[in-house]
Amino acid sequence: MKITGIETHVCHARMRNWVFVKVLTDQAGLWGWGEATLEWHTRAVVGAIEDLSQLVVGEDPTRIEHLWQMMYRQHFWHGNGIVRGTAISGIDIALWDILGKIHGVPCHKLWGGPVRDSIRTYCHLGGGKMEDFYVTDPADAARFGELASQAVAQGFTAFKSMAVPATMPIEGLRPVRYAEACVRAMRDAVGESIDIMVDCHARPSPRMGLIMAKALEPYGLYWFEEPCWPESVAGLAEIQRAVATPIATGERLVGQHAFRELLEARGCSIIQPDVTHCGGLSEARRIAAMAEAYRLAIAPHNPQGPVSTAASLEFGFATPSYIICEAVHLDVPWRQDVVSEGFTVEPKGRIVRPSQRPGLGIEINEAEVRKHPFQQEIVLREFYADGAVGDW
Ligand SMILES: [Mg+2]
Repeated sequence: MKITGIETHVCHARMRNWVFVKVLTDQAGLWGWGEATLEWHTRAVVGAIEDLSQLVVGEDPTRIEHLWQMMYRQHFWHGNGIVRGTAISGIDIALWDILGKIHGVPCHKLWGGPVRDSIRTYCHLGGGKMEDFYVTDPADAARFGELASQAVAQGFTAFKSMAVPATMPIEGLRPVRYAEACVRAMRDAVGESIDIMVDCHARPSPRMGLIMAKALEPYGLYWFEEPCWPESVAGLAEIQRAVATPIATGERLVGQHAFRELLEARGCSIIQPDVTHCGGLSEARRIAAMAEAYRLAIAPHNPQGPVSTAASLEFGFATPSYIICEAVHLDVPWRQDVVSEGFTVEPKGRIVRPSQRPGLGIEINEAEVRKHPFQQEIVLREFYADGAVGDW
C-alpha cells in the first residue's frame, strides 16, 4: 500500500481557516483525514504540507512512526517550529485515521483500548462565538455572569473565559479588580458545582500573572491558563509554586523537548498539548507518557475544527491522565454541515460517548467545505494605552 497524494482543503470559519488534510492511498476508497489549522498562518501551513508531501508520497501509510521520523528529522530542519509542527500534525493525524480504517477499529483501540467510558467537555463563553469569548470587555463583569449562565443552560458543567485583560508588564490595581469582578460574577451566576477556567492568553508578564493568580485564587478556578508567555518557563513555575490553583499551559509548544523543559521546571499542573500543533497524535502520546511520570493532568487545546476535536477525543479515550476536552460549537452556524461524526454528545452534561467507527470516525463533506473558501482571517491585535504592542 502506498500514499498517492496529500490534499489540503481550506474552510474559512470566520476567526480561523480550518485546514483539513486528506491523505490519499492507492487502495480504492481508503483515505485519512487530519487537521492542520493555524490561525493567521494558513498559507504557510498549506505550503509546508506541500513541502512535506515530497517525503511521504509513495511510502507505506501504515509505517506511521517511520514517516513521522522522516517528517520531523529529514531535510535538515527539524519539525519543532509551529508551522512545520502543525503540518506534520495534520499528516500524522490522517495516517492514524487510515490505520484505524485498515483494521476496522477506532484509533483509541489501536492504542490499548478505552481507558474511560466517557469524556467531559467544556465550552468557551458564548460557545466559541468570537465576540463573546475574545472580545467581551473585562470591564463588563455582568456580561461574564450572563454568558456563564448560558453555558450552564446549554448543559455544560465547565467553561472557559478570558476574564484577565491585557496589561503592560506592570500595572496597578484596576485590571486586577476587573478580573476579580468578572470571576466573581461568573461564580455567583453558576455556583460551586460548575468548573470555571480563566485563560490569560499569555498576556501578563510573569509578575502580573502571579498577581492575577493570587487575586483569583479564592474563587477556586478549575485551572488558570497561560498566566505568562510560554517562553517564561521559570515564570510559570514561580506562579505555580505561589498558588494552589492548577496552572495550565502548553498549547503553543511543539514537540516533546519543549514539554520536557516545562515538566522539569514544574511549570504547571495541567499540560495542554494541541494535537494539531505539537506533532500530531504520535507526539501527543509521547508527551502524555512523559507527563504521566509527573502525575500531571492533560487537557488538550482544541479550539479549531471538527477533525481536531475527533482526534482529541480518540486520544482522550486512550490516555489515562486526560481530564476534559475543549469544545467549540457556536463559532460558525454551519459547523455540523461539514462533518459527520462517530461520537455522540449527551446534551445533559455535554458528555461524549466514544465512536465505534474506524479511525477518527469522521467524514468531511468536501462540497460543504467548498462553500467556505479561504479568506484572510479577521485581524485581532492588541496595543496598550500608550500605543505599544501588547499580546492578544
Ligand atoms: Mg488558551
